[in-house]
Amino acid sequence: MVSGLVLLAIAIALSLMAADAAPGNLGYETSLYRYTDKPSSAAAAGGRTLTLYIDRDFDAAERERIGLALQQWNHVLNGFVRLHPTLLPSDPAGRTLAQLRRSGAWIVAKVDSRHPAARERTALAMTVGGGRLGSRGGGFVFVIGDRFAMRDLTAVMLHELGHVLGAGHDPHGHLMAPVYDRNNGHCIDRGAVAMVASAQHLPLGQLNWCVGPGLDDGRYTSRR
Ligand SMILES: [Zn+2]
Repeated sequence: MVSGLVLLAIAIALSLMAADAAPGNLGYETSLYRYTDKPSSAAAAGGRTLTLYIDRDFDAAERERIGLALQQWNHVLNGFVRLHPTLLPSDPAGRTLAQLRRSGAWIVAKVDSRHPAARERTALAMTVGGGRLGSRGGGFVFVIGDRFAMRDLTAVMLHELGHVLGAGHDPHGHLMAPVYDRNNGHCIDRGAVAMVASAQHLPLGQLNWCVGPGLDDGRYTSRR
């Protein structure tokens, strides 16, 4: 079974996001979890690109952690959809933001607990907007920066990107469980991928997902 799997090369810096980021530590245990690695030739031609504008309020280390989440989703999506990060234009006028939104862009914004998006008091982040890719349904991912340690930013973003891609919550799921649990958030499990595949009309069998302790191709072997 192991031959078909590769450890996601998380150490490889994501080109754009890591441009001014120092090499960093993930801060959580990933070595037990691996991603399937299916051939991507079929997807290479017709892939869609979804641009995410990253708030400049994220510092270099935070951008790197966001980049690691994007990198994992891109591996999972296997070329069918590509998440492309770019920095928000500096000091954008309100009109610029509105134009970005109208064009279907997604904006990853750093806010704090005073922001209206933080009204739900246990939320660590909030994704607003959505709709099908290609239907001009952009939106916001609000990261509530004062609610959690930045070492959890990759895991929080893995979950929120699931929402961006059309997944809802699954009370029995791992990554897409409604309540954040560090033990569930380390990678993109088959259940999360299945929800995205359904929302985006992608062939689940040609996508990748995470396998590891507690995960067995989406059939739970144990619960923690
Ligand atoms: Zn959620």
